[in-house]
Amino acid sequence: MRRIGVLTSGGDAPGMNAAIRAVVRTGLDKGLEVVGVRHGYQGLIDGEFTPLGARDVGGIMQQGGTILGSARCPEFMTEAGRHRALEQLAAHNIGGLVIIGGNGSQSGAHALSQMNFPVVGVASTIDNDLYGSDITIGVDTALNIALEAIDRLKVTASSHQRAFLVEVMGRNCGYLALMAGIAGGAEAVLIPEAPTDPEAVAAEIRTAYERGKAHAIVVVAEGAEYDAEELARYFKAHHQRLGYDLRTTILGHVQRGGAPGAFDRLLASRLAAAAVEQMAAGNTGVLLGQRQGEVRSTPLTEVVAGRKPLDLRLFELARVLAR
Ligand code: ADP
Repeated sequence: MRRIGVLTSGGDAPGMNAAIRAVVRTGLDKGLEVVGVRHGYQGLIDGEFTPLGARDVGGIMQQGGTILGSARCPEFMTEAGRHRALEQLAAHNIGGLVIIGGNGSQSGAHALSQMNFPVVGVASTIDNDLYGSDITIGVDTALNIALEAIDRLKVTASSHQRAFLVEVMGRNCGYLALMAGIAGGAEAVLIPEAPTDPEAVAAEIRTAYERGKAHAIVVVAEGAEYDAEELARYFKAHHQRLGYDLRTTILGHVQRGGAPGAFDRLLASRLAAAAVEQMAAGNTGVLLGQRQGEVRSTPLTEVVAGRKPLDLRLFELARVLAR
């Protein structure tokens, strides 16, 4: 193998650029040419390839997002679409592909691997829902952004005796919300893994009021049974019994766009460099992730079949610390 490709796919995550940089420079170190694929699997199908040298990836590590662009590509879900991608790879003499992305993207990597094309995945999603990596690229930065917002909301909430419903991202995984809730000192946390009745949330807010707290912060995961707006509608008629005036803030995509912190830059650099090493050694069809503090590879067949459970002891911790 003389030439490899690299692409970023699915939801962008802070640290993807550090991963691209590490793929290019590790590749060069191993005597490989590296080609960037623009716009994820769509660019693979359309042949949007661009050679990447060491200088092309200079000054990108500190930027959020991905210089290659990302996309969601329904066509790649079909075998015909993947065949078109394989034709493009053959036409451009690309013998292997590093795929930086989350759950969906690694399912795509697995599908390509099943068609006997050498791929290696790099675990990157702010949702932290990917089996094979305890923590994924982008989570730490997204969490810090959520925390900064919660800290600020607490200041204004305290000034006006308000309760805030703060919705954070995470798709169907409550990891970001739970961690933001613990680290941000929230009075209650709602996550999909532990469905909570709105009446119980109302009781938590009321209890905070009766304990003399100047504010109440409720962190709501976007995938929770009731999202922040539904809860706000539910509480609208009952503001009085909460004790506080109620406001809603949806952090949304603000969480994605930040400059990656040290943790994500280091994780991205380590995982992506290891991905190229595995590729060069012929160990493909695997995902590179961090497990128990070590860089580890996990077969993509296990990754797509596996589920990463949330440690619900942390949910209990959030409840106890909210007193
Ligand atoms: P993420 O990687 O952030 O979880 P998505 O779930 O949106 O992002 O997936 C990104 C892309 O990966 C999809 O748009 C699609 O092109 C591809 N993909 C997802 N699932 C599959 C699958 N089962 N087979 C082939 N490609 C897939």
